Amino acid sequence: MPVIIDGKATAARCNEETARDIAALKSRGITPGLAVVLLGENPASQAYVRSKDKICRELGMHSRKLELAAATSQEELLRLITELNADPAIHGILVQSPCPPQIDESAIVRAIDPRKDVDGFHPLNVAALAMEDPSALVPCTPLGCLELLRAHGIATAGARAVVVGRSLIVGKPMAMLLLAKGADATVTVAHSRTADLAAVTREADIVIAAIGRPNLLGAEHVREGAVVIDVGINRIDEPADPRGYRLVGDVDFAAVAPKCRAITPVPGGVGPMTIAMLMRNTVRACRNLTGEK
Ligand code: NAD
Repeated sequence: MPVIIDGKATAARCNEETARDIAALKSRGITPGLAVVLLGENPASQAYVRSKDKICRELGMHSRKLELAAATSQEELLRLITELNADPAIHGILVQSPCPPQIDESAIVRAIDPRKDVDGFHPLNVAALAMEDPSALVPCTPLGCLELLRAHGIATAGARAVVVGRSLIVGKPMAMLLLAKGADATVTVAHSRTADLAAVTREADIVIAAIGRPNLLGAEHVREGAVVIDVGINRIDEPADPRGYRLVGDVDFAAVAPKCRAITPVPGGVGPMTIAMLMRNTVRACRNLTGEK
């Protein structure tokens, strides 16, 4: 039977550690602060922002939830970012994606002070990750995947890892983290144009799926004894559910799990880790900005 990697429990342990770090900073008169900006009323984004705000408060951090109209202009949003960049009570700034079409997300990311870029999307942080600069703020989801592997004693050194997906948010930084010294995996990145995906992923000791296609990876994609981390969060219709949908990953869990050494479920796998790493990044940003250890 595979180990079912419990993201909720691992995230709870990470959050306990973060809460202790926050308490130590507060005893020196510093409260880490996170500002989360949401444009419009996308229900999934609203839910993410609510849970980020809730966990922030539970851990003792200062949280500012800024909910703006969907019609907010690029200039208005840039003005707000400038204010938050200058606000000494705010150490982390995050603009919830996706933004409405009038917003140039890449320009917004560039406007955030890289030291407050707790999503790790600013070009300076992307470069710092590529350069293995320890001061880099690293994107939360791939950081959470790596933490799950570490917490479950899954060695990455010398392992063959296949990352499926090449987004700036998950796939690329995931590959970079696995490749970096200390993680030391041999990394392949597959994507929508990869020929014979199953042949590529079957080579892997560790498969990271960050695709956004429900149940795309089946038993034929995974070799016996592989570790599978499923980043995907997909809503599929479920008339029996009061919400009318249920969440599934990019991996067909029922088909793949019996072949695995370990696998993450969806929900309850990578999702909670993403928020835990956001909290950790905010504390790191606070320490860097204030010079407090
Ligand atoms: P994205 O759409 O930006 O990227 C998807 C990637 O998958 C692309 O690089 C594409 O090349 C690849 N792809 C698409 N179809 C493919 C196919 N048939 N075969 C191989 N590769 C294919 O998405 P993203 O932002 O990287 O997110 C991926 C998934 O992870 C989504 O389901 C998203 O909801 C989820 N996600 C979860 C968390 C979390 O906290 N758990 C965080 C971020 C994203």
